Amino acid sequence: MGLADLDPQQLEALAARTTAAYAELQDRKLSLDLTRGKPSAAQLDLSDELLVLPGAGQSRAADGTDVRNYGGQHGLREIREIFAELLRVPVEQLLAGDNSSLSLMHDCVSWAVLHGVPGVDEPWFGRGVKFLCPVPGYDRHFSICAHLGIEMIPVPLGEHGPDVAQVAELVAADPAIKGIWVVPTYANPTGAVYDEATTRALLEMPAAPDFRVMWDNAYALHHLTETEHEPLDVLRLAEEAGNPDRVLVFASTSKISYAGAGVSFLGASPANLAWYLDHAGKRSIGPDKVNHLRHARWFGDAEGVRAVMRRHRALLEPKFAIVRSVLQQRLGELGIASWTEPEGGYFVSLDVPEGTAARVVQLAKAAGIALTPAGASFPYGRDPRDANIRIAPSFPAEAELTEAMEGLATCVVLAALEQQGA
Ligand code: PLP
Repeated sequence: MGLADLDPQQLEALAARTTAAYAELQDRKLSLDLTRGKPSAAQLDLSDELLVLPGAGQSRAADGTDVRNYGGQHGLREIREIFAELLRVPVEQLLAGDNSSLSLMHDCVSWAVLHGVPGVDEPWFGRGVKFLCPVPGYDRHFSICAHLGIEMIPVPLGEHGPDVAQVAELVAADPAIKGIWVVPTYANPTGAVYDEATTRALLEMPAAPDFRVMWDNAYALHHLTETEHEPLDVLRLAEEAGNPDRVLVFASTSKISYAGAGVSFLGASPANLAWYLDHAGKRSIGPDKVNHLRHARWFGDAEGVRAVMRRHRALLEPKFAIVRSVLQQRLGELGIASWTEPEGGYFVSLDVPEGTAARVVQLAKAAGIALTPAGASFPYGRDPRDANIRIAPSFPAEAELTEAMEGLATCVVLAALEQQGA
């Protein structure tokens, strides 16, 4: 029976049970963490062959390049070929970089602020530039904007992307809007998957020539079910839309091989690539090609990457099942929460009664369960409804995850009851 349907006696009984459960939770002196969208140690173990590759005497790439030396700003061709197929970006339009795609995004936005981008060679700096931010979204995208003085405008994220009519209207009304953050496949944190119609509309809508879609395909290959959503070949779609320079594609192997020691990728139009390479050449004499070779040797080909991803899925799927089952058992009937059931990615997005998310996080913290701060998935850390909580189930072991989720459910019920004055 839903919380709203309970009579005063039933409500009182539930309040007594929940208060007792919370006291017991506190007695357990837990130290659990649901904040980190990090691979578990077992996932990292899958890639341990990388630690001995490429191996002594193995320093030559297929084209004879000595990977130990400077140069090769595009990155090694063999790793680019593998990911060109997987990301559906033509190999000539795909660069392999260092260990972080977030750094590539930060570079691109910084250079746009300092120098402008192809189309309008006027820096964004001092022009009151704004970005659209589908919410809930990835907090580190928002940190880049905040850090560089870019104002953020939230737009609600649906199952297949934001409402493009609303996006187009905002962009038409304000030429200072120069970008939008997009996590097209298994969005962080909702798991939304952008469909082709939404994507085409984003690429076709009228916008300034220096407007950029920051297409962060961090979870392109990170399926959790049999339904494997194929990445859209967004560079071709942009060309077809007559706006080839509108989109910048980002990805990395952070959650394929090692988080923080993988390979990042940038896909873009010829004009954007020339722009990127010009600036990148001032910043570095070339990316870490040893790491490119190591990864290329280990994966072998695109199928090698798919095989690793199936092994990740085997480790992750049971954890997402635990999250689903505890939420369903503990909160389903009460009708006080809703949550996403992603088909891939690293997160579950939980909505609790409006005005209680911060309280839930506080209650959980006092019981030794660390949750991402309420509002973290919104620009400036402000969730206007104070309803959203991001759950990251990948890192803890299954037993700990179960305990943390049970504890979280208790906190959600307790906060809802407090709100009702029960
Ligand atoms: N993009 C999204 C949407 C993410 O969720 C993350 C990590 O959580 C990243 C990018 C970070 O990528 P990288 O490790 O390549 O910097």
